[in-house]
Amino acid sequence: METTMQTAMTTEKIPYKIYLDENEMPKAWYNLRADMKQKPAPLLNPATHRPVQAEELAGVFCEELTAQELDHDTAFFEIPEEIRNFYKMYRPSPLVRAYCLEEKLDTPAKIYYKFEGNNTSGSHKLNSAIAQAYYAKKQGLKGVTTETGAGQWGTALSMACSYFGLDCKVYMVKCSYEQKPFRREVMRTYGASVTPSPSMETRVGRKINAEYPGTTGSLGCAISEAVEKAVSSEGYRYVLGSVLNQVFLHQSVIGLETKAALDKYGVKPDIIIGCAGGGSNLGGLIAPFMGEKLRGERDYRIIAVEPASCPSLTRGVYAYDFCDTGMVCPLAKMYTLGSGFIPSVSHAGGLRYHGMNSTLSELYHQGLMEAVSVKQTEVFEAAEYFARVEGILPAPESSHAIRAAIDEAVRCRENGEEKTIVFGLTGTGYFDMSSYEKYHDGSMSDYIPTDEELAACRSKLPGAGGNLSEITF
Ligand SMILES: *Cc1c(COP(=O)(O)O)cnc(C)c1O
Repeated sequence: METTMQTAMTTEKIPYKIYLDENEMPKAWYNLRADMKQKPAPLLNPATHRPVQAEELAGVFCEELTAQELDHDTAFFEIPEEIRNFYKMYRPSPLVRAYCLEEKLDTPAKIYYKFEGNNTSGSHKLNSAIAQAYYAKKQGLKGVTTETGAGQWGTALSMACSYFGLDCKVYMVKCSYEQKPFRREVMRTYGASVTPSPSMETRVGRKINAEYPGTTGSLGCAISEAVEKAVSSEGYRYVLGSVLNQVFLHQSVIGLETKAALDKYGVKPDIIIGCAGGGSNLGGLIAPFMGEKLRGERDYRIIAVEPASCPSLTRGVYAYDFCDTGMVCPLAKMYTLGSGFIPSVSHAGGLRYHGMNSTLSELYHQGLMEAVSVKQTEVFEAAEYFARVEGILPAPESSHAIRAAIDEAVRCRENGEEKTIVFGLTGTGYFDMSSYEKYHDGSMSDYIPTDEELAACRSKLPGAGGNLSEITF
């Protein structure tokens, strides 16, 4: 099928293609929303319940990032040269054929993984951090604020900010702050200031501390604190490491490189697997493949893997919800457990966000992708297996995808199917050794929230009857 679409690089309609430079690196990010007939639902202003306009976000987000966030139609955004120069330090990232894993599993399946852990921050998050820092700098800002859960985003943003000479203020979920002192020190090495959240520095932090004494925090709380700090500080804006569509856009470099490399060798994947926290790495990995699927050119099985302890796609509802616990951010329509959801303290595998990117949510809602949830001991079992067979010590988050890829490869063995599986190996796990320690000591539990607990969080969704489904566009 011949398709044409609008591009931000030129004003003409040009055929869909992956724009590569001489190093086989993408020259433009791909905006999957442009190929969706039914677009993701718009962000709503929490006060008026009307779709937010760029002006309303101007105090919170950088201008160009807001434009990317709200643009559902432009298929390609040129990657500015400054960002491409930074990417050159660690991209293209390796796409590896997992020969040893295939052999060990005795599977006829071919397994490939796209490895995003070979930069100092240790994950894919740097792909968007550098873009966000660039646009903040270009706008003449002094600095940015953000939250970090496990710490990878804070680390990536610290690196990006130090590269462009921006101030970086990170609110780190308290339990991670305490469990991962070395993550904190990496951020400080790159010049960021790091505060455990909920803190007593912000109004919302004080309120959450008063309501839930002794809380170890959540991503939602930390987001609220970072937003409050940004809007109340001159020359600062807030940046977010996942969930938003702008992040999904930047992460499309993962999928574009993967697609270009597979195309070069004539490899056609059957199954594409990624772990899903806020949805950005999965969205980025699948973008060009899902684009083909949406345009009716090719079909793929696409699988999102999430923790059984934080199951937004598999057990959440598709409704408008707050992106943060403090309810200061716009409302997004997404699969959500409710913004008050805080994973059990025994949860050690990351991916602890209560909701899911709105584009992925809409695609899942349309039945264009699948989702599975896995228990954390199964995840760590896969992590250790992978480390011993393929050498790389994976991040617990990434190991959700490893688990699902291994399960699919075993199924191929049982059914005698020669499928090609591609999965996203989002990062390394060197800072997650206390979680590995729990696994090795046998003290890791598999707590799964009960239906009652999930229903209690759901009952606090905004709008009549727990959702805003009466609003149609
Ligand atoms: C943050 C992170 C994830 C999950 O985030 P998404 O936005 O869902 O991609 C996965 N893996 C690693 C290593 C991470 O740091």
